[in-house]
Amino acid sequence: LLVLGIETSCDETAAAVVARNAEGAGRILSNVVLSQFDSHAIYGGVVPEIAARAHTECLDLLVQKALDEAGVSLTDLSAVAASAGPGLIGGLIVGATSGKALALATGIPFLAINHLEAHALTAGLTDAIRPPYLMLLVSGGHTQILWVEGVGRYRRLATTIDDALGEAFDKTAKLLGLPMPGGPSVEKAALNGNPRRFNLPRPMIGREDPHFSFAGLKTAVRHAAAKISPLSEQDIADLCASFQAAVCDSVADRVRLAIRSVLPLLPEGTPRNFVAAGGVAANKALRSTLVGISDEFGFAFRAPPLELCTDNGAMIAWAGAERLALGLVDGLDSPVKPRWPLDPDAAKAAGAGV
Ligand code: ATP
Ligand code: MG
Ligand code: FE
Repeated sequence: LLVLGIETSCDETAAAVVARNAEGAGRILSNVVLSQFDSHAIYGGVVPEIAARAHTECLDLLVQKALDEAGVSLTDLSAVAASAGPGLIGGLIVGATSGKALALATGIPFLAINHLEAHALTAGLTDAIRPPYLMLLVSGGHTQILWVEGVGRYRRLATTIDDALGEAFDKTAKLLGLPMPGGPSVEKAALNGNPRRFNLPRPMIGREDPHFSFAGLKTAVRHAAAKISPLSEQDIADLCASFQAAVCDSVADRVRLAIRSVLPLLPEGTPRNFVAAGGVAANKALRSTLVGISDEFGFAFRAPPLELCTDNGAMIAWAGAERLALGLVDGLDSPVKPRWPLDPDAAKAAGAGV
């Protein structure tokens, strides 16, 4: 199977061609991503209307580039997949409509892909891991622990009750005057900092419900910073290191709880895999924490390479190929869904949309 994937749910315009063989192994033939970061920088966040227009301007060219780099033409494709939610509605409409038009013109199936499902299945493409596996998705918009039972079968074990982890990194960077995106800035500053200088809260530790919370931690950094004036470079480094240490402790506690809850679902002899994805999975301190916990419980830790952890077209194409292999195609009348929880029961129980 040869699938074209289109991603336009946020501020990255992306297209890719991915192949899947009969044994279920994937191969990336091309993967082009254009970040709109500069268009939004002066506003301090993503402006939905600007994002949608930027997608319209460059998507055609990116699709052509993805086909050229893969050395295939539209008529070689088995299907077109586009992210159809969750995300910003303008961008989703641009990507899904383009995907449908290409499918209609070529006479091949269209697949409306859940962006979170695409993140969740990426490990099958990069590491040939088959479900079931446990997954931590940590990005700018999401912080979830998922139990991936199979393609199309997901149980959300935990989510954030306030800020996403990437958002907490970004807000912390902003309040300390560090450049965006905040995650890499905080990580870099933390390298020279003392993680024990500030005694910040470890949100949710010991709580029986499995969820995350980061808003209070970010506020604690604000209060600690407000007591020092002016902030020296060393103060900032110490705050970043202390923040990162608190994040790692909190995530570690939540992940341990999730692992304990899925252990009974894994009979003796079943491979134990723990997968991390999303931009925050690039954080080295967090990664080494996750490697440590995986070791504790006999899980193998896997994280797709960074360019496949953040938003990209290959993950959409791959999710499309996995669904197509199961015969799960979508109609050209299928809607885009700005809110589209992977596990509707869990979302309803938490009263949250995603
Ligand atoms: P979503 O995929 O949920 O719609 P998004 O597109 O913003 O959101 P990603 O592109 O996966 O998410 O990740 C971006 C986030 O990852 C940003 O919040 C950024 O600060 C964070 N991030 C990137 N690198 C690091 C790092 N080294 N340490 C911590 N956070 C990081
Ligand atoms: Mg992004
Ligand atoms: Fe994403």
